[in-house]
Order: sequence, then structure tokens, then C-alpha cells
Amino acid sequence: MVDVDQIRRCVRCGACRAVCPSFEVLGWESFNTRGRMILIGKILDDSDGSWALESLGTCTTCALCSQMCPAGVTPSKVVEDARRVLASRNITGAWQIELRDRISSTGNSLGEAGRRHGWLSMLGTDASSDVKALDVKADQVYFAGCMASYRYPETAAKTFGILRKFGVSLLPSERCCGSPLLRTGLDASECMEENLRQIDEMDVDVVITGCAGCYTTLKNDYGLKVMSVAEFLAARISELEIGPLDFTVTYHDPCHLGRVNGIFDQPRKVIREICELEEMRSSRELARCCGGGGGVRAGYREISLEIARRRLADAPPEARYIVTACPMCVRNLNEAGGHGRVIDLVDLVAMACRK
Ligand code: SF4
Ligand code: SF4
Repeated sequence: MVDVDQIRRCVRCGACRAVCPSFEVLGWESFNTRGRMILIGKILDDSDGSWALESLGTCTTCALCSQMCPAGVTPSKVVEDARRVLASRNITGAWQIELRDRISSTGNSLGEAGRRHGWLSMLGTDASSDVKALDVKADQVYFAGCMASYRYPETAAKTFGILRKFGVSLLPSERCCGSPLLRTGLDASECMEENLRQIDEMDVDVVITGCAGCYTTLKNDYGLKVMSVAEFLAARISELEIGPLDFTVTYHDPCHLGRVNGIFDQPRKVIREICELEEMRSSRELARCCGGGGGVRAGYREISLEIARRRLADAPPEARYIVTACPMCVRNLNEAGGHGRVIDLVDLVAMACRK
């Protein structure tokens, strides 16, 4: 349900309006944070609300508005809750229904039919050629997520190749964490129950993930103890045999890892162990969004890519790579013009590994 007090506390100052990435692209008052807050107030007094679907649907849930709001309002959360209100009235975009059906029929948000942990074959027989051979019980498991599993299997394999050295295991049959459903107002209980069942059966204490969307969902929606791959690497970097690389990179903070969950220092620590780091024009709490989150990439591809193009312009020209810690950001920024310059933190670590 929408917290009505949040709507009342909004003083319509517009501090959020100035930073909203979707407004920057679309330019209409109803597509900025303040406009969305006004529309949400009206949705609550109306039994329809379909007129607000596009305004709410184009919010990336980047939370930059929540960071800026002087009244302590968290519009990104209010938008999510308002999407849930619309969905409960069966007011959804066709793309949301397709997304829900894909996850329901294949267990992943991309609708892929192949094995989720197919990337294990890239590790060779030493690590594991089959999920079934992995541990029955484990303190820590790697949750790869849909995007890494099906679009960046090499990165997933590299990540697990490192984690496995420290005894980290896998869930036998990981499903989508439910993030795309939850962020767009839909029910994710089926995914959550199935993942939680496996986590309970394995007596898992900590779930480790390299996806910002999975991270925030497993931590804040499931209520689990979660560690990002960036945190894990920062804690264990001295135990990895890495050598210095003679170039400069920059770091893009994924919204749901950085601003929403405060993971800023750990990826930077890892990068500085390897090479030079030059910050982007906006970084840390004020980092601009890649445009890929909140269902915007799935529902409004061109808007999402235009937000990403603007984010790419924040990178210092001397940076050989734009390093980030989320496969959604890697994909959106590369497809918007990054052309392979955007890499995952694990890809950088793998480049620096001596063996
Ligand atoms: S910054 Fe906060 S108070 Fe100001 S318009 Fe935005 S939500 Fe309302
Ligand atoms: S969460 Fe981001 S995209 Fe959504 S209203 Fe706030 S600033 Fe705009």
C-alpha cells in the first residue's frame, strides 16, 4: 500500500525534479518525480489510474530523488507501491504481463530455455561440471541471477571460479529472484518461495551475488544476509594472486548497490589494488542511473538507452574501461554506445589475476 503520509509530506519543492533521469529524457512534468507524486495522490482517489501507467512505468527506481528530497520523502518507494496498487486493479502494461509469463514458464526474466547454470561447463571438471555434484549444505552460496547466467555466462563463471576457492556453493535450482516483478508492482511469491526453500534446505547463512537488483531484493525483500561480490572481493583481495595493470578505469555505481544499499567503498578498494581509478562526473550517492532498472529497460527500451547514453558521457575520457558491479548496468551502458568498454568488476579482477 502507498504510504499516504509520504504524499502529504511532499512540499512540491522540485528538488527531485532536477535530478530525475527519465524527466531529463522525456521533459514532461508528469514524467518527473514531483509530477509522479501528484499523480499517485490522484490515483488513490480514483478507482482507475490507467492514465498514470506510463508516468510510473518510466521511473527507473534509481532513488536519486529520495537522496535529494529535503522533506525526507522516498518517492522511489512510493512509485513502487503505486505500481502495486495499479497491478492490484489489473492495470498493467502488456510488457509486464509478458515479463511475468516468461518468469513463470522459464524461471528467468529473459525467457531462456537453457540451463541456468550452463556456465559451469566453462570452469572445467575441477570446479564442477554439474550442479548436482555440489554441496548439499553450505554456509555461503553464489546467486548468479538471470542476467549474468544468460547474457554474461563468462562473468558468472569467472565469479564462481573465484568464490569456489573459498568454499562457496550454488543453489541446485536457482530461479529469478523476483526483482523485475517486485520493482514493477507484480507478485513474486512463487520465485521467492522456491529460492527460500532451497536456501533453507542448504542451511545457507550468506547469499553472495554480483547483481545489484538481486542484491537489494534478496536483502530487503527476502530479508536474507547478503554480500555483494564487490564486498567479497574487497575482503579477500589479498588472498588472490593479482598483479597491477597499467591503465586507468572509472567506476559506475549501480543505483541499487550504491545509493540504496551503501556499497561504495568496496568496489573502489578492489579497483585501486589493480589500477588507477578516476571518478565519473557524478559518483557515489549522487551517481546518475544507467537507465536499466525498475522495468524501464523491459518496458521502454529507447528511454532506457537514452538515459544510458547520458550516463556514458559522465565517464572521463582517459578511462580505458567503465567498471561496474551489476550485469544490468554492463548491458545497458554497452548497448547504448559503450561497445564493450563497460565491464564487470570481476572481469577486471580476472585480467589482473596471475593464474
Ligand atoms: S524533493 Fe521531496 S518534497 Fe520536493 S517535490 Fe520532490 S518528493 Fe516532494
Ligand atoms: S527513482 Fe529515479 S527515475 Fe524514479 S522518480 Fe526518482 S529520480 Fe526519477
